[in-house]
Formats: sequence, structure tokens, C-alpha cells
Amino acid sequence: MSKVISHWFDGAESQGTAQRWADVTNPATGQVTGRLALAGKDDADAVIASAVRASEAWANTSLARRTQVIFAFRELLSARKDELAELITAEHGKVHSDALGEIARGLEVVELACGISQLLKGDFSENASTGIDVHSVRAPLGVVGIISPFNFPAMVPMWFFPVALAAGNAVVLKPSEKDPSASIWMAKLWQEAGLPDGVFNVLQGDKTAVDALLTSPDVDAISFVGSTPIAQYVYEQASNHGKRVQALGGAKNHMVVLPDADLDAAADAAVNAGYGSAGERCMAISVLVAVEPIADDLIARIAERTGTLVIGDGRPTDEKEVDMGPLVTKAHRDRVAGFIDSGEKAGAKVVIDGREVKPRGDKDGFWLGPTLFDHVTEDMDIYTEEIFGPVLSVIRVETFEEAVQLINRNEYGNGTAVFTNDGGAARRFSREVQVGMVGVNVPIPVPVAYHSFGGWKRSLFGDTHAYGTEGVHFFTRSKVITSRWPDPGTRHEGGLELGFPQND
Ligand code: NAD
Repeated sequence: MSKVISHWFDGAESQGTAQRWADVTNPATGQVTGRLALAGKDDADAVIASAVRASEAWANTSLARRTQVIFAFRELLSARKDELAELITAEHGKVHSDALGEIARGLEVVELACGISQLLKGDFSENASTGIDVHSVRAPLGVVGIISPFNFPAMVPMWFFPVALAAGNAVVLKPSEKDPSASIWMAKLWQEAGLPDGVFNVLQGDKTAVDALLTSPDVDAISFVGSTPIAQYVYEQASNHGKRVQALGGAKNHMVVLPDADLDAAADAAVNAGYGSAGERCMAISVLVAVEPIADDLIARIAERTGTLVIGDGRPTDEKEVDMGPLVTKAHRDRVAGFIDSGEKAGAKVVIDGREVKPRGDKDGFWLGPTLFDHVTEDMDIYTEEIFGPVLSVIRVETFEEAVQLINRNEYGNGTAVFTNDGGAARRFSREVQVGMVGVNVPIPVPVAYHSFGGWKRSLFGDTHAYGTEGVHFFTRSKVITSRWPDPGTRHEGGLELGFPQND
């Protein structure tokens, strides 16, 4: 039996006009488990209108009350995270522990937002000019749209909505069509936490829903995460319609291993960051840059570890949990397998072939095992394209400089890592590499919630990263108030003066 997955607005589920539907599948079984209502323009307008109606009262709700609601959401989510993890595994395919991991990283941002009263404190300058004080406040924007990708159905929305809501905005979340159930679950949790109806809304759909958000005069800001071509489109469209926008795009993350590195630690990291979540992470390592003479040794250690991985259905069982689940859809599985074919044809050496996977799961699941390529070159499409699957490509270079130049030539600049025991080399790498998030002996350097997340180059359009103080800045606008309050009992000492006011 497949369930119906609807929009959420005015505090309730609604299928809207429901003229178009999409199937939602369980990637581990290939079975259709849900029918998703895809919004038409009228549905999008109805959801946005719900946010508009609720936004003013929420913006005027005290910081104390808003903070209480965020705290309540934090407590509920923490207590019931297994339920959400199960929904994620059932539609995305990632293993249960990995789904819990993404929730934990989302919770960090909720916890950051619990401190919103501290984060929103303005500045005050007494007697900036004689008898004149100046203070600044950060005010909410109104209605913000969040458009998220399939690969983190809970965490990526949580990069944005806790701070957006805490700062006094109403939210319309447009989740991925591939795994939409998490969004409705979170909407219900907000209601339980005491968030007034209409402040958090979910608009289900595809390009039609996205375009409605990008062009609506009632939406003030857009936070987007997804692939680079769509990120660029969203950035341009939203900007043309006068909105502030942050659009996070795709990635091709390189991990450099220097000859002095601890090769066991580097091999562990390469396997975890290359194949975790079947490589469907924007911070996954997809290129391993081995600085000679260690490539043969490192590849042998990675191959040995990869051989022990269990691929299968990620739902919790009494057996040991599998290490890696299926890919999200059959089309995506076939696309990634196509890259393996083309890498082989182009002359890269297939060290481990994921096409020969023997999964612990249903024969109709979207399976593809971890794949390791050696002798990859910069012109091959397995290097130039974002594969977004469990495919790790090794490029061999002779020097540190070659490794940095390779990364800096790449169009993406999301994450990177260096493995070394030489602090000077690590420092030089961190300074010279043109990438937004750098790990030193850390393979997936996703910043903690009180820093901010974002790449460089074609991995981010706009100038503001997600969450942290940049997130607070994005979801608020500054107002500066200059005031003159004469001492009690003093006479008015004005007079006509048409010159530009000067301070004294
Ligand atoms: P996607 O670009 O296909 O979809 C992202 C969102 O855009 C979805 O909500 C989708 O419905 C919508 N969308 C898709 N096509 C559209 C169109 N033509 N017009 C308007 N909207 C459209 O991305 P995905 O496949 O869901 O996610 C994987 C991608 O996201 C990868 O490229 C990955 O690197 C990237 N990603 C980046 C980050 C980051 O922080 N930079 C984080 C997670 C994922």
C-alpha cells in the first residue's frame, strides 16, 4: 500500500488541487511506497499565502516565546529521532546510523537557534553626537523559501529553518521529490512544539513549485541547496525578482595524501568519506590525490578495507547493520554505473568494480557497490563530472604543488582535505587551496553550527554561507535608529539649518 504525501500549510496536510503526482520509492526494494502531490501554481500560491498570513504575528512574538518553541522542537526531535531516521532510510536508502548522523548535525543548528536572543543582540552607541544615541537591530525578512536536495532530507532543511524561524521569519520548505516524507514529519513536530500554524509550511513539487517561490513577490529570500546548474538558475531567477539568495551547488572534493601521512588513517578516511551514504554527500571525497611514492601502498590499504564492506538494506535489523545502502533511484544508479563504464573505456584502471556487487537485500533494490579507479586523469569524465555515487578516483601526482594546482583548476570548491604529519605543509595547503571548507586529517570537514557552511567557486552562488553567524545575517536585515531625547526640562534648541547634519 502506498501512502499519499501532501503539502502542509495553515497547520494541516492538504493535497491542494493535486493534478499531478509522482511516485516515491524505497530504494532498497524498488517498491513504490508513496504518491506525492506535485504543486501547481495555485497550490504554491496557497502555501505561500499561509506563510504571509502568519509572518507578522510571529515576527512580533517575543524572543522569549520564540526561544521556548525552538527549545521544545529540540527536545521532541531529540526524543523521537529514530522515527525520522526510519523515514529517511525508507526513501533515501542510507543506513539507519547514517540517518541518525544527519539528524544529529541538524540538531546542532537547532541548538544554535536556541541562543537566538544572544545572536540577535544589536549595538548601541551612546552620545554618538551631542545628545544623540544610535542603536541597531536585526529584523526578520518576512517569508523565506528553502529548496532542498534529496541527499539530506532532514539536515539540509535544518541548516536553514531553525535560524530563519528563530529570527522571526515564516518558512516555506520545498523538499526533494525523491524523499519528501521527512518534511511533513518535521512540520508536525513544529506544531507539537507550539509553533503557530502557518509559520512553517511545506510545498511539495518540482520545477513548477520552485519557480513559484522564485518569482512570488511575497517571498523575501531563498536558500537553495542542490546541483550546480540548478543553483545557478535559482540564483539568477531569485536575484532578478529582487530576493536575497544563497544557492549552494555541487562538488568534486579532493583528498590529498602526502607521503609522510599515516596511511592507515588516510585509508580509513578515504573509505568512510568516499563510500559513506553511497557517495551521495556534497562533502563526499570523490578524488584521492596520492603524492608519490605512496599510491600503490595507499590503494592496497583502501582496497583491503573496501572488501570488508557490507552493502544492503539500511533498515535496522538484529544482524550487524550494513555499511552502505542503495542509490536513491534506479535512474541515478544507472547513471553512476554508466560513469564506471566510461571510466573503464577511457583507460582508468578498475581496482574494485561496484557493478559486481552482491547486496544483502531485495533483488529489485538500486544496488551499486563501492568502486575504486586508479590512474585517473584530468580529462576523463569520471574526473570532470560530479558522479554523486560510490566511486573513488585516484590521481597520482609527484609533488605537493601539483596537488594544489589540480584542486585549484577544478570548477568546484566545496570541501577538501589534506592528510599529513607535517604542520607546515598542512598550513600551506590551508592557505593556498581555493576551497571553502578545508580538513586537516579530517576527511569531511562540515563546520560545526556556530561556524558557517559553504563552498567557493561554482559550489556556491551568492555571498552568504549557511547557518552560524552568516545564517543569522542572511535571515535578518539591519535597522539603525538614531535618536535625540533632550534632558527633561531642557528647552528646544533647534532652529532652521538646511545644511547636511554634522556631528559634534
Ligand atoms: P537537484 O539540483 O536535482 O535538486 C535540488 C532541488 O532543486 C530539488 O528540490 C529539486 O526539486 C529542485 N529542482 C530540480 N530540478 C529543477 C529545475 N529544473 N528547476 C527548478 N528546480 C529544480 O539536486 P539533487 O539531485 O536533489 O541533490 C544532489 C545535488 O545537490 C548534488 O549536486 C550535490 O552536490 C548537491 N548538494 C550540495 C550541497 C552543498 O552544500 N553544496 C549539499 C547537499 C547536496
